[in-house]
Amino acid sequence: MRRFLSILLSTIFLLAITAPAQAGAVTPVTGKTIMLDAGHGGFDPGAVNPNNGVAEKWINLAVVHRLKDMLEADGARVMWTRIDDSFVGLDQRAAIANAIRPDVFVSVHHNSTGNPVTNGTETYYTRSDSIGLADSLNTFLVADMQTANRGVHARSLAVTRMTTMPAVLTEGSFITSDAETNAFIKLDRVEQEAHGLQQGLLNYFAHR
Ligand SMILES: [Zn+2]
Repeated sequence: MRRFLSILLSTIFLLAITAPAQAGAVTPVTGKTIMLDAGHGGFDPGAVNPNNGVAEKWINLAVVHRLKDMLEADGARVMWTRIDDSFVGLDQRAAIANAIRPDVFVSVHHNSTGNPVTNGTETYYTRSDSIGLADSLNTFLVADMQTANRGVHARSLAVTRMTTMPAVLTEGSFITSDAETNAFIKLDRVEQEAHGLQQGLLNYFAHR
């Protein structure tokens, strides 16, 4: 009897650790590997708002954390280049992605300019295999964040150039916009931006 109980308990334990964390419905990203790349980190703050001191590295990381939760609930396997406030070089980020070979690579950044009222969304890609992903993410970011659409542009950025899978870099909004950073502090902006990226990824994989 003790032996039976012991086998039963270990079977239940095995089932518990092998069952999916969230038994949700199948979505277009179920089973896809998505690598999220929070820009900057550590000694590199990225853009900093001169009026309230909000640094881009923290906003990038907050959006990535929220997006990771959303995508995992949708059944995706989410990987990332940094999980905390550490510095990871651009070539290292690309090397991590190329070793893991995710289905897509999404680098999350925020823009900056000298004008405190300038705001809007733009998305960059390098290779033509990434245009569809850039278009989808930019469209859904603008829809969810209600920002001005500054468009999708080809640019030779390190992480989109050195990675070997469809790769884009999003600039959801401007860190130098005071209204924007105040919204981020209240976290509702993080929710909107993560939701825009999630919807953009679902749309991309649904139509690929
Ligand atoms: Zn940046």
